[in-house]
Amino acid sequence: MTAAMPGFRLVTPRSLAEALAARAADPLARFLAGGTDLLPAMARGLVEPETLIDIGMIAELAGIAVDGDRLRIGAATTLARLQADALVARHAPVLASAAATVAGPQHRTAATVGGNLCLDTRCVFYNQSQWWRRANGFCLKREGTVCHVAPTGTRCHAAFSGDLAPAAMVLDASVEIAGPGGRRIAKLCELYRDDGAAPLCLGDEELLVALHVPAASGWIADYAKSRVRGAIDFPLAGVAVALRRSGDTLAGLRVALTGTGSRPFRLAGTDAEIGHGVDDAALERLDKLVQKQVSPMRSTMTPAHYRRRVAAALTRRLVRRLFAEAAQPPMRGGGATAPQSEMKP
Ligand SMILES: Cc1cc2nc3c(=O)[nH]c(=O)nc-3n(C[C@H](O)[C@H](O)[C@H](O)COP(=O)(O)OP(=O)(O)OC[C@H]3O[C@@H](n4cnc5c(N)ncnc54)[C@H](O)[C@@H]3O)c2cc1C
Ligand code: SF4
Repeated sequence: MTAAMPGFRLVTPRSLAEALAARAADPLARFLAGGTDLLPAMARGLVEPETLIDIGMIAELAGIAVDGDRLRIGAATTLARLQADALVARHAPVLASAAATVAGPQHRTAATVGGNLCLDTRCVFYNQSQWWRRANGFCLKREGTVCHVAPTGTRCHAAFSGDLAPAAMVLDASVEIAGPGGRRIAKLCELYRDDGAAPLCLGDEELLVALHVPAASGWIADYAKSRVRGAIDFPLAGVAVALRRSGDTLAGLRVALTGTGSRPFRLAGTDAEIGHGVDDAALERLDKLVQKQVSPMRSTMTPAHYRRRVAAALTRRLVRRLFAEAAQPPMRGGGATAPQSEMKP
């Protein structure tokens, strides 16, 4: 049972300064982008802002452009635009590939890059109606004292389930953040912390302005996810891989994962594979690396050990496929796994 949508005041700033001022004026206000996550969360009583600050009219947050040696993607860019954009297809096709797996086509016409990167964590005991949660005694993340996933623990293990973050992480992307103290640039990996109750390292009054993707010619990348419903669902595990091949060996390998813990993260230790080929032994080593570093908990209907194993299997398959594709001449017109090209508009 979902309660009626609570009332709220909508503010529509036309500049970043106005948006930040509106946020400073109401500490409980929330930034609203596409609303595809925030509005259902409000309907379920998970968040109760009296003011929503619609950031969709701010010019600085819009658009995709080559800026020097990087691609700048405004935080308010919709996922549908990301999927269809020619610059993204040329310089960072893995982002389009990941965006295409988010929710359904209609969601993607409203859902944004910033909203996807700032997605709240999810848990089967939390993303429920207020009635359901009250009947269950609420939980540690909100209004309760016990975590139903790990009852003896003191922290929330809800899973970060955004699809874009790992794809951007293997491109070594950064985020541009604005707040009362001015602008700052941070590596995307630094935006997240391993805490399901407060997964973002973003100040209350800070706002994501853009995603910056550095030039990376010669890399080939793709994203794969496992989900319950193939047409529309959050990842049970999502894996992005970027690699460079030199002859018969790896010249670079990056792997990032989502859906398996409270934060998306870059797999540590992949540099040990540089200089080696991709044979069964290498894939076995990567499988072990993934299984050791992911930490799925009982926060979905699907068992944690399945998510651990599927994360490793997706990694093995992606690495094997991309390594083979990297030996082929580039496809005409690019494609999801086409090598990224030099940054030229
Ligand atoms: C049925 C359904 C299926 C879904 N499936 C998926 C899926 O498969 N994969 C997936 O990744 N997501 C999925 N989602 C979640 C959601 O649709 C997407 O993650 C979407 O990209 C969120 O973007 P948005 O613009 O709608 O965010 P909003 O709902 O507007 O905002 C989400 C959060 O981000 C904050 N925020 C938004 N923009 C900024 C910014 N620029 N700076 C700081 N904070 C900001 C908001 O305050 C809010 O807390 C699904 C949602 C639904 C309803
Ligand atoms: S992991 Fe525990 S505290 Fe976090 S949302 Fe789930 S039940 Fe609540």
